[in-house]
Amino acid sequence: MQGKHVAGIVLCGLAAVMLLIGGLTKTWWNAEKGPVQFGVGLNGISQCVKGECRTQSFAKVGKLEGADKAWVTIGRITFFATFAAALSLMLTVGMGAAGKATGGPVSPSSISAALSVIMLLGGIAFLALVPDPISNVMKAADGGVSYAAFLHLGGSIMGTAGSVMFMGGAGAPPPNYSAMTPQQLAATPGPACRACRKPTRWVMEHSKHYCDGCRLYA
Ligand SMILES: [Zn+2]
Repeated sequence: MQGKHVAGIVLCGLAAVMLLIGGLTKTWWNAEKGPVQFGVGLNGISQCVKGECRTQSFAKVGKLEGADKAWVTIGRITFFATFAAALSLMLTVGMGAAGKATGGPVSPSSISAALSVIMLLGGIAFLALVPDPISNVMKAADGGVSYAAFLHLGGSIMGTAGSVMFMGGAGAPPPNYSAMTPQQLAATPGPACRACRKPTRWVMEHSKHYCDGCRLYA
């Protein structure tokens, strides 16, 4: 297998896990005051007292209106889209591991690339537009942005990078020419010649593709 192929599989796989953990964990912001731990996630707030946690809606911290209401919606959309992004990333990993090409305009890799970018934008917007009532609670308790946010953002970036690698044709590993019989080799045309666009053929002695028309090695 090609290095780029393995890198694409690893990046997309890790990205799916990081997005899921980051999306489900309510510690995009985290603060601690005495025995109370207060966390904010994409889809709500958690309040833990001595390890016992309760999930609450954002409305609990105060009345959220206008831009703050939009912030809640951004969080919710990003939360639910996280599952679609993780699913398409895992599909890309599965197809890549099975040696199937995943490139093309509508393919698991292009869908997971698009969803990873949406994750990145949603995550950044959720961090940037935090409502005052929530940031005030965080400031009062010396809290701040915490690991779930970093996991989610990191997952978005890795998912984008990995998906783009697959879109660039890393999905199908290159044929193993050395294991082929001469007949199989003759039936396996190489990539198109850069000069004349006709398929090249593999020349075993030089381990290179050769264009018979242009008499050039690719
Ligand atoms: Zn040529």
